[in-house]
Parts: sequence; structure tokens; C-alpha cells
Amino acid sequence: MKLLLPKQVYNRITDIDLDQLRKRGISGLLLDLDNTLVRYDSEELDQEFKAWIIKAKSEGFRICLVSNGRPKRVIHFAKMMDIPAVISAYKPTRSPFLRALELLDKEAAEVAMIGDQLFTDVLGANRLDIHTILITPLGKNEFSTTRLVRRLERRMLNRFVKKGLLAAEIINRRNEGEL
Ligand SMILES: [Mg+2]
Repeated sequence: MKLLLPKQVYNRITDIDLDQLRKRGISGLLLDLDNTLVRYDSEELDQEFKAWIIKAKSEGFRICLVSNGRPKRVIHFAKMMDIPAVISAYKPTRSPFLRALELLDKEAAEVAMIGDQLFTDVLGANRLDIHTILITPLGKNEFSTTRLVRRLERRMLNRFVKKGLLAAEIINRRNEGEL
């Protein structure tokens, strides 16, 4: 159960406190794509998020996409942001995270994984002791299998909130938008 607990939760990537991450010794960001950075059904990157990527890069953060999504689509966005990508990632297996560390030339303790799913992004990164940040999914449009997983995810998150391990405000907002 501990492996499913994110270290931090935010509604949007733009809410992430980059200074605080830097103080923790984090200088690399592993980014999920679908429903973290862009809606699952969108080909466009929100201006606000694009600006955030540019800001993070200019502050010295190295960023790598780690996505289970369609390779062509992942490469399209990686090129758009001028960052490397691990495609066909099969999160939560360890290999895509290890590959991303290699691409960024970072140790596990120097990066944070940012994603919207507990059972892929958070579980996979926690297994390697990577700092994990859970984001509220941008859209509801997802694979039907993901929708099933979301129910389990919600149950876990509510349990964490009950135990006082996660911010109720953020999780409640997340849950309101779902299912
Ligand atoms: Mg996602």
C-alpha cells in the first residue's frame, strides 16, 4: 500500500513548487503525457503548460517524457517541447524509469515522477524510490480499462485521505471530476 502513496498531490503541473523540489535535491523531472500534460484526446499543448516546461528548463531542470501512450504521439509532443522521451514505457515496470534516469544522467534521488495515475506513474516510480507527484487528470476521456482502474485508484486515495496522508482538498476535487 505504501508503494501506491504519492509523496505530493497537486491539481495541475503548474501548481508544483519547483523551488521546493530543488531544495530536496531534485533537478530532473520525469513527466507522464496523457492527462498530465495534455488531454488524452488532444494534439495540442496548453500554452500555460508549455510556459511551465520552458520555465522549468530555464531554471535548470532536465525533463524527460515517460509515456505508455502511442509512440508517434509521444514523439510528437517530445519534439514540440524539445525534450527526450521514453516511449512504449510499460509503467509500472522499472525499465522505463531506469531508461529515463539514463537519458537525463540522474540518480533516482535527483528526480521526481509527475503523473496522473496511481497504478502506473506512482507505483512504478515508488518502486525505485523516486519522488512521486500525483496530478489530477486533465480529462475524463480515457481507455475503458483506465476507467476501471480509476475506481480502484479513488478507493486508495480516499483511504490515504482518511489516514491523513494526503490533502483532502486536492483529492476531493480530483474525485468530483471523475466517474
Ligand atoms: Mg497519464
